[in-house]
Amino acid sequence: MLTVAEPIEMKPVPVRVPARLALEVRDLTVIYNNEPALENISFSVKAGERVAIIGPNGAGKSTLIKTVMGMLQPQAGMVKIHESGRYCLGYVPQHEGVDWSFPATVRDVVMMGRIRQIGWLRWPGRAQWDAVDVALERVGMADLGDRQIGELSGGQRRRVFIARALAQEAKILLLDEPFSGVDAGAQASLMDVLDGLNTEGMTIILCTHDLALAFKRFDRVLALHQQLIAYGTADEVYQPSVLARLYGGQIATLENGRLLFVDDHHCNDC
Ligand code: ADP
Repeated sequence: MLTVAEPIEMKPVPVRVPARLALEVRDLTVIYNNEPALENISFSVKAGERVAIIGPNGAGKSTLIKTVMGMLQPQAGMVKIHESGRYCLGYVPQHEGVDWSFPATVRDVVMMGRIRQIGWLRWPGRAQWDAVDVALERVGMADLGDRQIGELSGGQRRRVFIARALAQEAKILLLDEPFSGVDAGAQASLMDVLDGLNTEGMTIILCTHDLALAFKRFDRVLALHQQLIAYGTADEVYQPSVLARLYGGQIATLENGRLLFVDDHHCNDC
């Protein structure tokens, strides 16, 4: 007798796409005048991740960002960028590192991101200015293109540099303390801009002193104090022993939304 098989319901098999690396840092050591600023730092960042670098003043956060950017030459180790070339790295410098009295408009600064597309010793054409305006639009600065950079607020200045990275078509954005000296409202809207870019796939690496922000809004936290003290989710990193190694003495951080005080005697291994 002929039997007819019941149709088998085909369930879609979830495809696990391995997360692609955006960058890798291996055994990085940077020395200034015989004084090590970074020692044997190794970590990797996946494409689309948000990583906050925390640590006290002088911990080497800026040095790490500048070395990844290729602005500083390490004495040992390497930085491997898995996106296409160094132009995929966008940089928002520390506010103090920029001469804001330089006579340039917002659009001029953002146009600096297009140098690769324009080529040296050529004038930008219509398409390049359009790209600048699109970048300014994305950071909510479309109306301020002709303003001198010295006339901007702290939050707007950071946005200009984010727009420069967008004009450059960066895939990884490195920001050096973008929230220092910025009020809470401007910080929130800057963070919204970063969230929007991250949703579109931008990898974001920034250093900050704001432990609560790193806890709430970042996938991973890198605790740095000349050496890599810890790297993982905020839950993994915000351990009394890690925070005591970073900050020593009494520090406060968030645990279940509350302040937690940690002092040196919690530090077992430092
Ligand atoms: P952070 O960004 O965490 O405050 P930095 O990377 O700026 O730390 O500095 C790390 C260490 O390197 C500090 O001790 C600092 O004094 C030193 N340092 C930074 N830049 C220079 C430099 N250009 N020349 C000499 N020492 C430097």
